[in-house]
Amino acid sequence: MTKIEKSERLKKLPPYLFVEIDKAKKRARDEGRDIIDLGVGDPDIPTPRFIIDAMNKAMRDPKTHRYALDQGMPEFRQAVAAWFKKRFNVVLNPENEIQPLIGSKEGIAHIPLAFVNPGDVVLVPDPCYPPYRSGTIFAEGEVLQMPLLEKNHFLPDLKAINHSILHKARMMFLNYPNNPTSATCDKKFFKDVVEFARKHNIIVCHDAAYSELAFDGFKPPSIFEVEGAKDVAIEFHSLSKTFNMTGWRIGFACGSPQLIEGLAKIKANIDSGVFSAIQMAAIVAMEKYDSHIRSLLKVYEERRDVLIEGLNAIGWNAQKPKATFYVWTKVPHRYTSATFAQALLEKADIIATPGNGFGAHGEGYIRMALTVDKRRIREAVDRIKKRLA
Ligand SMILES: *Cc1c(COP(=O)(O)O)cnc(C)c1O
Repeated sequence: MTKIEKSERLKKLPPYLFVEIDKAKKRARDEGRDIIDLGVGDPDIPTPRFIIDAMNKAMRDPKTHRYALDQGMPEFRQAVAAWFKKRFNVVLNPENEIQPLIGSKEGIAHIPLAFVNPGDVVLVPDPCYPPYRSGTIFAEGEVLQMPLLEKNHFLPDLKAINHSILHKARMMFLNYPNNPTSATCDKKFFKDVVEFARKHNIIVCHDAAYSELAFDGFKPPSIFEVEGAKDVAIEFHSLSKTFNMTGWRIGFACGSPQLIEGLAKIKANIDSGVFSAIQMAAIVAMEKYDSHIRSLLKVYEERRDVLIEGLNAIGWNAQKPKATFYVWTKVPHRYTSATFAQALLEKADIIATPGNGFGAHGEGYIRMALTVDKRRIREAVDRIKKRLA
């Protein structure tokens, strides 16, 4: 058979850095070892019963079985607008400022296709969620990394961006609360970003997937709480983490009508919308947000405290994250991210994600997800203490 060549854009994707750990993980599981998996950012808690009930009911209505409208159900967009007003005190027009997505990852990966020309520069944080890079590469854009450094509280330093290439910059990705660093930002940061973007004519893509997972009373802002943001920004929201619905695939983009229109045009040529029954279940989810979110946050907050207090009691210096379900912390001195992840797995049967997998500036860090119960988190700390000391 002739050799089938991959496209240049596929060949350009950065190497997948989790290969070794994935292999080791599979080996450990095949050996029947008792693995504690702090690796995946996927909630272990099931979707709430009231959402499943709404889905069940919606599925029985044959009207939901046909192609959904590309722009989504008007009722879904109205529910998003109502939730957004209540949560952020921001008014969105359901007619042209909201686009349902088949999970926010889908919209994030597609947005560069709508606005980035070959050779255009896209500003991408490092470390980051991988689709910012791959989406840019698929659109033949050039990735310019913005280092997220601890000394800057894991916020990009806008003043440090090379001015000689700023005129080629077309788009910027941001993500707060942040995966993997668990950093948060305030409204002042968004204000600086919007000013910067307006000055240099850059589209801001803000990934707000963790906007609802924040602790100790903190409520992360939307970029649209800043005046003028709608001229330059699009924000990506997800029901995945907020409602334990990662497998359902539903989220939405909102913001500038021009940006929404461009993304919608790409999508109209690729997919055919979100299953209407899922949209109907999502409407119920958003309507009952208030009564659901408190109990969810209590679970993660407790797990966070067990892990951080446990690690610090055995001599680590880990900070309590204000948001997300990740703990991002430096690896002990004699290790790299990769060798520490390997030691955790081989000696303690614990899976965690090496920071360099999210970009070069993640080197020296490890990410642990709070997606196992607190008894298992205690067990993990105990194993680290006994087997890795
Ligand atoms: C989980 C996650 C998403 C959400 O993805 P969905 O496609 O909505 O499930 C988006 N961004 C980041 C940074 C994430 O970690």
